[in-house]
Amino acid sequence: MQVRVRYAPSPTGLQHIGGIRTALFNYFFARSQKGSFILRIEDTDQERYSPEALDDLYATLKWLGIEYDEGPIKGGPFGPYVQSERFDIYEKYAKKLVEDGKAYYCYCSPERLEKVRKEQQEAKSQYQGYDRHCRNLSSEERLAYEEQGIRPVIRLKVPTEGKTSFEDILMGRITRRNSDVSPDPVLLKSDGFPTYHLANVIDDHMMEITHIMRAQEWIPSGPLHILLYEAFGWESPKYCHLPMVMGKDGQKLSKRHGSTAVAEFRKEGYLPEALLNYVSLVGWSYDGTREFFTKEELEELFSLEKINKAPGVFDYKKLDWFNGQYIRMKSDEELLDLLMPYLAETGWPLSDRGKLLHLTAVAKERLKVLSDITGLARFLFEEPAWKDLSIFAAKGVELPAAHTALERAYAILRGGLEANKEQSMIEEELAQSAKDLGVKVNGVFQPLRVAITGSTVSLPLFDSIELLGFEHTMNRIQDALNVLKKGIE
Ligand code: GLU
Ligand code: ZN
Repeated sequence: MQVRVRYAPSPTGLQHIGGIRTALFNYFFARSQKGSFILRIEDTDQERYSPEALDDLYATLKWLGIEYDEGPIKGGPFGPYVQSERFDIYEKYAKKLVEDGKAYYCYCSPERLEKVRKEQQEAKSQYQGYDRHCRNLSSEERLAYEEQGIRPVIRLKVPTEGKTSFEDILMGRITRRNSDVSPDPVLLKSDGFPTYHLANVIDDHMMEITHIMRAQEWIPSGPLHILLYEAFGWESPKYCHLPMVMGKDGQKLSKRHGSTAVAEFRKEGYLPEALLNYVSLVGWSYDGTREFFTKEELEELFSLEKINKAPGVFDYKKLDWFNGQYIRMKSDEELLDLLMPYLAETGWPLSDRGKLLHLTAVAKERLKVLSDITGLARFLFEEPAWKDLSIFAAKGVELPAAHTALERAYAILRGGLEANKEQSMIEEELAQSAKDLGVKVNGVFQPLRVAITGSTVSLPLFDSIELLGFEHTMNRIQDALNVLKKGIE
């Protein structure tokens, strides 16, 4: 049997980590089984439909390099299936269910349904939901409604007794009492639009989907879908509901934990290969130790058996670590190309590629995300403002002492660089001056770093000096000394 799986997002919001993980697991499973990965846009909910969400979906899949296999799109052989282009199919099948006695027309007005709901609430009735009023209408009653011009919805006849169960590859057998399944849910709305359940089941059948891999939050829909397959007389695909993605606090991953939209990770400068690698490990592992996988490797190695039953934890720190690793795997040339858009946003003059390559080589070790480059490179393009003088003073050091330390450092640096001394020699002299002044090493290095780069977080000192140039560095330290002096007076 050829494996056929699908990713079936509803374009109502941005693609987030959980959704993308579902897409990746489906994609890798299909590839590892030499099967097909199908993209299906479930846009039956017109009220929540958003064109931006659809753009974001395509952009995200493209960025991650996930290619889908088939689908009739206008103007090309490849493209997703789009449910809103298939409404006539759903209508036809819903009507067939009515003919077969598995579903029925319901003419109830929204007002009547609301009244029923209120009454159930007031009576604190166990029974919630539609009261199946239209389930056994006589043909005369139906005709009377039709003559009033009421356009009916189609509802599924859910058995009132018995149980429905299905096998989940990960969770085992899942069984629900039919009385707990939503009483006769709407399949087709009065405007001819299908509901999620109807379109989802028909499409999975027609597209010959073999395995449904989707988020665990869809488990409650499972029994209803099974009842639908039974009503149609179709065999259901296999189910594999994926454990949730949690934050480190054990709560479902949400905005509260940080950004969850893939677009935001992309904007911040996470590399697609890092995100893809890390997200694949959230709830899946190969042998429990190996962590690095290319997309091509995952296309070979992925297997359902190794999906964890326990919820997957999404650790932002770990993603940062992966991203740093992948950044360091880039050549300077490649990395600079990736950094350019971030640098270009600043408006800095960027014509000296040699200098930028030097910057890239030096910054490479310190980048967690690509956007970090602007903070690290600012000192090269803008004179520091030193608005907050306290950053000159290392812990436990007063500002006047910081000024003295910087004066000493200036002299040592100028003397050392002019005499072409080894970097380690100059560093030793700087360390010695700290001893003489009775401060820790940082009592000298920090004001120096702040003077040269304007920040306590920077590229390594001597690399910064080299990038900035000797004269420029010296002038800048002089400026810093003046600013400090004024501040102390
Ligand atoms: N359209 C549903 C969603 O947005 C698909 C659920 C499923 O995969 O069956 O998640
Ligand atoms: Zn009704």
